[in-house]
Amino acid sequence: MRREDPELAGLLDAEVHHQNNTLAMVASASTADPSVLAAAGSALANVTAEGYPGARYHPGAVNFDEVERLAVGRAKKLFAARYANVQPHSCSSANLAVLSALMAPGGTLLGLGLDSGGHLTHGSPASVTGRHYRAVAYGLDAAGRIDYDQVADLAARHRPTVLIAGASAYPRTLDFARFRAIADSVGAYLLADISHIAGLVAAGEHPSPVDHAHLTTTSTYKQLGGPRGGLILSGRDHRAPGPDGHTPLFRLMQRAVFPQNQGTPAPAAIAAKARAFALAAEPAFARTAHRTVTGARALAAELGRLGYRVLTGGTDNHMVLLDLRDTGVTGVVAERALEACGILVNRNRIPDDTRPPLVTSGIRLGCNILAQRGLGPEHMARCAALLHDVLTATTPLNETEFRIDPQQRARLRDRVHALCARHPLPYAAAVQAGAGRRAGAGRPDALWTGVDL
Ligand SMILES: *Cc1c(COP(=O)(O)O)cnc(C)c1O
Repeated sequence: MRREDPELAGLLDAEVHHQNNTLAMVASASTADPSVLAAAGSALANVTAEGYPGARYHPGAVNFDEVERLAVGRAKKLFAARYANVQPHSCSSANLAVLSALMAPGGTLLGLGLDSGGHLTHGSPASVTGRHYRAVAYGLDAAGRIDYDQVADLAARHRPTVLIAGASAYPRTLDFARFRAIADSVGAYLLADISHIAGLVAAGEHPSPVDHAHLTTTSTYKQLGGPRGGLILSGRDHRAPGPDGHTPLFRLMQRAVFPQNQGTPAPAAIAAKARAFALAAEPAFARTAHRTVTGARALAAELGRLGYRVLTGGTDNHMVLLDLRDTGVTGVVAERALEACGILVNRNRIPDDTRPPLVTSGIRLGCNILAQRGLGPEHMARCAALLHDVLTATTPLNETEFRIDPQQRARLRDRVHALCARHPLPYAAAVQAGAGRRAGAGRPDALWTGVDL
């Protein structure tokens, strides 16, 4: 590819350097191990095979059947689940499969509101889930925590068919047992969406919902270091009857994914999931997850000391949410100014935000990739100081534009680069240490662009 398509190869190389030289603190991201990337780019991608192992609608799935069985077995083991479906192309697809299997159009859905940190697929008007279902939203209390009394009140009043526990921007532990008690009190199904915290759940750093919820969904890339994709799990309720009164949930879910919501599965992505689930069962993954949580806690404390308003006053998971309203900088200005200095965070709406979603008054930070680089609590004073120095160097011109003195920006970038160089991403460290001996190895980009695989 380098010879025949240098334009594309050059961009892929540039991306390697970009990732290695950037301090990524996007809460919904992790980096995949080179072996996961290798599986995702493997020849299994050439296999077209609708259906499930042993029951395909196409020939030629002999190896894919084994790979999918491996992925299912590893997912069940990792999450102590009794049922796993590894075919969803994303967590959004997984959620649509679950909701469409449990509810006819017009059914009632109770989920965390988008402005309170919920996800689009939990009933937002911008999502098909908000258009096809009667979506009711619960919210947060004055301290910014999920208001479980309100969840119970709304459940009693609206009698939802599905209650969703899960969030995209919520820094505290979710009480899945309490959610289940509320669901049971009104005969609702409980869906736990652990897209953001799946790695912490796998590592025991957050309580598992798998035996509390009827069904659990997750993305495989956000915290599991896997490929783009989704996963559906079920624990002790996998044989519970669906809405028709007899078909067990696991069987409903098989049909809901294929043929009701998806066509052919992505075999190479499923191989990459199998690899990621194996890695997530390793002690090294648990150590990284622990560093993620302790790092986030330290980061929240440091930012609080520097005068920032940390939502809920801290964090229990990988995520720190900042309310920037009294800094004079909007969410989008903070995001862009930080990116200009080599730090990636994303703008995020905060409760009662009056600014539109593309502007916002907050930012969301996450420690997944910092922890993968080996950056833990002892490094967070340093990271917080970098964030603070960029934000104080930023002069907002309006809600979306800003100015930073070019020399100051260059100095800030140098500091970020120096930190990144001392803590390279694991793949880059491996290659730099001469892990590969084949042609091309020794270049930090060799693994990423696939030339060395
Ligand atoms: C990101 C997210 C999703 C959607 O995941 P995709 O795999 O990107 O479709 C669903 N639910 C929650 C809570 C999320 O944070």
